[in-house]
Amino acid sequence: MKDYRVPTKGGIKLDDYDPNDVGEYEGGKQTAKDILQELNEELEALQELLYAEHKHKLLIVLQGMDTSGKDGTIRHVFEGVNPQGVKVASFKVPTPVELDHDYLWRVHQKTPAKGEIVIFNRSHYEDVLVVRVHNLVPKETWQKRYRHINEFERRLAEEGATILKFYLHINQDEQAQRFLERVEKPHKHWKFNPGDLEERKYWKDYQRAYEDALKRTSKTWAPWYVIPANHKWYRNLVVAAVIVESLKNLKMSYPADVEDLETYHKRLLEMTLSKA
Ligand code: AMP
Ligand code: MG
Repeated sequence: MKDYRVPTKGGIKLDDYDPNDVGEYEGGKQTAKDILQELNEELEALQELLYAEHKHKLLIVLQGMDTSGKDGTIRHVFEGVNPQGVKVASFKVPTPVELDHDYLWRVHQKTPAKGEIVIFNRSHYEDVLVVRVHNLVPKETWQKRYRHINEFERRLAEEGATILKFYLHINQDEQAQRFLERVEKPHKHWKFNPGDLEERKYWKDYQRAYEDALKRTSKTWAPWYVIPANHKWYRNLVVAAVIVESLKNLKMSYPADVEDLETYHKRLLEMTLSKA
């Protein structure tokens, strides 16, 4: 699998990343879907282990332009995983109460506890993206946030969290196509928000804001990945592969046996045999 991690040093230009990239899987959509299914199964087992071991925490951050596929990624990558084992936190326009606190207040509450996987559908990064693009706070305020975010994520990591951040990379043509689909297909109408077309006018500003965020906050303890996302099947495959690999690297194991397991075994055998 190609490495889509954003380097922790140096700048990045999103134009250098091809949203149509399909790595080595050229023409192999079906193969990719089969592999995804295997990854789904591996993820299911790893999630159970994570929960049982009750030691590590996994935080997944999903960001991307409108229609980039944040919802679809969650649906497909976590297909088959025990719904009790995964939580999704979606960050919308902050409420008045949230705005009265610092921007990380609502975020910290949603971070994973031991044994949990939490997926952020949008995140604290909105506070250096939409907030920056629309001047919702002065520049002096958002400029300091990259540092806050690095410190915040570092703290989470030092306290046992594995943090993976995915930027779902599509281009403007693909976005137009997806908006069109939302308008043309009745079951997708609910997803169409005319305001999104206004937002599209700020494409360049968003790309610049994303480049800055990715460049300043891709860290060894919380790397960013730029995921080619024009092809949904490839997007799902790459995200799933990164998550599975990171979980495997944790070298988790089921907790030590219950004491006196042999005694319980014997007693249970007696109980079941006496019924026979
Ligand atoms: P959606 O993801 O389509 O449900 O839309 C959620 C909306 O909330 C997006 O337009 C985001 O830009 C917006 N949003 C999320 N977080 C913030 C924030 N901190 N400040 C302003 N808008 C936000
Ligand atoms: Mg939307």
